[in-house]
Amino acid sequence: MDVLNVTIFIVGLLFGSFLNVCAYRIPRKESIIWGRSHCPHCGHVIPFYYNIPLISFILLKGKCHYCGAKISWQYPIVELLTGLLTWALFLKMGISYAFIFYLIFIYFLIVIALIDWQTKLILNKILLVMLILGIVVNAIGHVIPFKDAGIGAVVGGGTMFLVAYLGNRIFKKEAMGMGDVKLAFVSGFFLGWQLILWALYLGFVIALLGIGLIWLLRRNRIPKQVPMGPFFALGFALNLFYGRELLELYFKLFS
Ligand SMILES: [Zn+2]
Repeated sequence: MDVLNVTIFIVGLLFGSFLNVCAYRIPRKESIIWGRSHCPHCGHVIPFYYNIPLISFILLKGKCHYCGAKISWQYPIVELLTGLLTWALFLKMGISYAFIFYLIFIYFLIVIALIDWQTKLILNKILLVMLILGIVVNAIGHVIPFKDAGIGAVVGGGTMFLVAYLGNRIFKKEAMGMGDVKLAFVSGFFLGWQLILWALYLGFVIALLGIGLIWLLRRNRIPKQVPMGPFFALGFALNLFYGRELLELYFKLFS
């Protein structure tokens, strides 16, 4: 552990805190830049010393200092997850344009997954900002060739559209929404055509496992609508870190 590694992890924690703010405020149409954080229960403004990632949650024992309302476990979990993922990506890529490019990808996946989980919506404006930032960083840093990214987007979006179309025909209800199709399109841009199909496949496997788990936990009752975004986000992120290893493992197991 040296200073750089620790700094990257702490910056990741701070971004995690910001992603929590985004996931809470964007669906409520609140500004993500202006306005101090406040307790959703009593409305008291939270001073910075009660808003330190991880540490405040532990010191406050998961409760609001003013009204005692429980603070959701989502906050420290997302902070820690973001810190660890940021650090892991740094270890894999070092300080580079690729690091920034994929960090944008992961941070947006986290926000999209959180909002989809809570509201069952994947918001267009988030996907649009994600795509624009990706294009800009890719244009400056030449992370992946634009041809690969473009084909990846079309292949990803097209495949997901086909699956959604067939799924909706077979199950005679909306099994998957257009939000998932658009997410696959934008993710294809970040992963390129070489990785997007495998990433989608992983996403589907994780989604099926996840729905199976929900089914078990809720005692044989499948909720009417399961947001798929979080599962795909997990599949895409896993693919980014361990795509090749998982592919090799897959062929070892099933061939
Ligand atoms: Zn409170």
